[in-house]
Amino acid sequence: MTKHEMPPKAKRGQGDNAPQPVRTLRDWLDHLQARGRLAIIKPNTDLKFEVAAYAKRLDGVRATLFPQPSGHAIPVVSGLVSDRGWMADAMGVEPADVLDRFQDAALHPLPWSETKSAPVQEVVHRQVNLEKLLPLPTHNEHDGGPYISAGLMITRNPKTGKQNVTIHRCQVNGPNRLGVLLLPRHTLTFFQMAEEAGQPLDAAIVIGVDPLTLLASQAIVPLDQDELEIAGALQGRSLPVTKCLTSKIRVPAEAEIVVEGRFLPGVREPEGPFGEFPQYYGPRADRHVMEVTAVTHRKDAILHTIVGGGLEHQLLGAIPKEATLLAHLKRNFPNVLDVHLSPGGVMRFHLYVKIKKRQEGEAKNVMMGAFAGSFDLKHVTVVDDDVDIHNPTEVEWAVATRFQADRDLLIVPESQGSRLDPSNRDGVGAKMGIDATKPLKAEAMTFKRIRVPGEETIDIADILKRDSGTDWRKALKS
Ligand code: MN
Repeated sequence: MTKHEMPPKAKRGQGDNAPQPVRTLRDWLDHLQARGRLAIIKPNTDLKFEVAAYAKRLDGVRATLFPQPSGHAIPVVSGLVSDRGWMADAMGVEPADVLDRFQDAALHPLPWSETKSAPVQEVVHRQVNLEKLLPLPTHNEHDGGPYISAGLMITRNPKTGKQNVTIHRCQVNGPNRLGVLLLPRHTLTFFQMAEEAGQPLDAAIVIGVDPLTLLASQAIVPLDQDELEIAGALQGRSLPVTKCLTSKIRVPAEAEIVVEGRFLPGVREPEGPFGEFPQYYGPRADRHVMEVTAVTHRKDAILHTIVGGGLEHQLLGAIPKEATLLAHLKRNFPNVLDVHLSPGGVMRFHLYVKIKKRQEGEAKNVMMGAFAGSFDLKHVTVVDDDVDIHNPTEVEWAVATRFQADRDLLIVPESQGSRLDPSNRDGVGAKMGIDATKPLKAEAMTFKRIRVPGEETIDIADILKRDSGTDWRKALKS
């Protein structure tokens, strides 16, 4: 067996008890509940703001499940993957192996397999009133209305038939109409091909999938690479899919809900504002329109919603971007050990890079490589291999003690950045690189980090358990 055919790494155990990748939303809810990570909120929570308020307060701490939201029969879940460690659990790997595992799946996709028995088609609606049928929440204060925010948008290349999977924000604009923001990515390319021919573009929105399929939808891969095949590779099986009722699109058969429809040529309607990942609103403007042709779902379907700007929103985009940036940097700099898009940098704008420095000046080359790898990056900080880049305080410590602004700062004016950064002008702004590595030729003790021998082996949990409630006077006498 070649290296590429090796089964996915699962380091946490051996044999039958080795962790398996998660395969459905229901399996994932069981997993979260077994670990005390699922909060069940009161029935009848209001879909307008109140669902998002609970989800946001518990962001990164608990996933949230809402029975009968606003009296609706279909429950809502949120915050399924708001922590990197949870994503590692979903993959069945250690947190340090998340990027390697994702990159491996993107490089070695598994074709899906078609099935006719699809739970997601147990119930079929051909006459659709979206707001009556689905419990669609409104999240942030100035959002344009209820949204489908956690739906995988699946379309087919009109020329090749290959599928594309991604997430777009979809605002309810009428009983069977959605206003959809199509950024200049693969869905828009397919739509432009259809529109030029005067044709609609078939589409399906899949709601309620497992965390690995959600993550795969965010992979940065070429046009005509079907992201469902990456989901299969992450799950370690051919993903079971089924054909839509009103188009040729294949959707994950074990999902909760599918909204089928088509983008209309020559039609644009207002969409927005919508609370986005940088903690600001994406603006209202005329956008593409999807007309809904059918909705199918499980008998006891569950609707997943992602609160705009929350950790789940940020993390789902960050992991595939980190994996791509790490692979991109390693091609030129094999001594780049790890990268991290920090939460304070909205997991898009600030990159921390850990290197095993070989030569002075190298950190600045690494910064330039990173900026060339993603135009979203605004500030890149490079540190040595003794700094934990997942801890922002550690990175700040390295900047505080190893960086001098006249010598270690790189500024590139007037370059392309994110249009969602309100401080630049129409997506044009400055890049900044910070070299916080120590000089190679420093005296041995100058940058020697202080350390108390034996500190790391002390079991704190044991001490906290034993000594809570003990009278200190009595303890001294015994
Ligand atoms: Mn794509």
